[in-house]
Amino acid sequence: MSCSFDLAHYAEIVAAAREGGYRFAHFAGAPAEGSVILRHDVDLSLDAAVSMAEVEHDAGAGATYFLMTESVFYNLDSSEGVATIDRLHELGHRVALHAVYPNALLDDRFDPVVAWHNPDPDYMRAPLADGRINVMQEPWFDPATYRSDSNQHWRSGCPHDELRASAFPWLQLLTHPEIWAYPGETMGQTMRAMLEAEKARRLQQLADDRIDLG
Ligand SMILES: [Zn+2]
Ligand SMILES: [Zn+2]
Repeated sequence: MSCSFDLAHYAEIVAAAREGGYRFAHFAGAPAEGSVILRHDVDLSLDAAVSMAEVEHDAGAGATYFLMTESVFYNLDSSEGVATIDRLHELGHRVALHAVYPNALLDDRFDPVVAWHNPDPDYMRAPLADGRINVMQEPWFDPATYRSDSNQHWRSGCPHDELRASAFPWLQLLTHPEIWAYPGETMGQTMRAMLEAEKARRLQQLADDRIDLG
């Protein structure tokens, strides 16, 4: 199995978790033995989030999508943003807040769960008030039961073998949809592929907005 950052291998990772006997869980009660919490921080692309969500839905897996209200890349208040939240829910997933410190204002679009975007160490693991869960606080975060795909690189290796072998007591698996939904051997290539797709989307939006592109 080659560990490429594409949706085909993401589906293999999800399948490996199932083969390892894991159940897919959310950020609610303390992580139970044998559970995998699929977390997605959506930094750049709502389209990528929906593509990943469909792969998980086909595999019968539920995930939590952390969406930003302060992104420079997408607008959650736009028709696309509203449609994305509806689609994620329709596919059986949960939606929570990918927040820019110190703003973690939750409205009724979000479960009471917060993942900080690019957090500094001084607040990264601090619990939040008012019943909100910080995904990096105890008991939801433990370095031994956490893997992430930052910048198209697994710091501790792709987890598919360990999942299949039931090697983790439980796991929080953070992946960023845009890394998987767009092709590229490196983060730079993947980002450029995303921008090409974005350009086509923007041209369509301009046409829809009755802009003369002639
Ligand atoms: Zn792998
Ligand atoms: Zn982020």
